[in-house]
Amino acid sequence: MGIVEHHHDNSLFLPAKEKELVLTDPMVQFPRSKDTLLVLSGGMDSTTMLYEYRSRIALAVTFIYGSNHNQREADCARWHCERLGIEHLMIPLGFMADYFESSLLKGAGAIPAGHYDDSNMRSTVVPFRNGIMLSVAAGLAESRKLHTLMLANHAGDHAIYPDCRPPFVNAMAKAIAEGTYDRIELLCPYTNLTKGEIVKRGIELGVDYHHTYSCYRGSEKHCGNCGTCTERHESLAEAGLDPADFD
Ligand SMILES: [Zn+2]
Repeated sequence: MGIVEHHHDNSLFLPAKEKELVLTDPMVQFPRSKDTLLVLSGGMDSTTMLYEYRSRIALAVTFIYGSNHNQREADCARWHCERLGIEHLMIPLGFMADYFESSLLKGAGAIPAGHYDDSNMRSTVVPFRNGIMLSVAAGLAESRKLHTLMLANHAGDHAIYPDCRPPFVNAMAKAIAEGTYDRIELLCPYTNLTKGEIVKRGIELGVDYHHTYSCYRGSEKHCGNCGTCTERHESLAEAGLDPADFD
């Protein structure tokens, strides 16, 4: 009888290394090898995506487009990539700050206080930012022979950012597939999640949100009353954390 039981336990016939992977790595459910480029700002949403899809992500890219908070975000992005052993690039798009109209590109004093839904938040929109970043990312992905792009737009962005809404990402996904030889795919799995839902997921994944940056004013500590700070506080509270610990 002992011998029969032994033969029914198929796991004993797997090589030791493979058996360990099956038992311990939750990311093994994703069948592909590293084939993905993530647009990583260094804020809470894209950092969560970096952790959730880390087994697929070959390259994370932070675009430096001259916003008040760009450098602090980029430093956070680099910290997480070093921790996870994922290649990280910072790509300059300095022309945007020179030629585009947005309060986000004009210093801390230009940023209005309030909630994302407020009409005065419209001034912080950087025109077609996601369209520009995804276009550069698509060209880079094809150059690197990577098959997939990921963007961490989410439901809370829909109110004021046209280039975060489902019709935009769906249209962009079609354009990127048609415009590349490899028919590169765009995945935006957080499109219909709230920021609170994303943070809850990140806590389960072990994301340290102390090393994320959100404030549109770009000062050393989060200001606490601009649109992104308000959203950051609400999502941390929703996930059961004390927002004051993350300023
Ligand atoms: Zn702020």
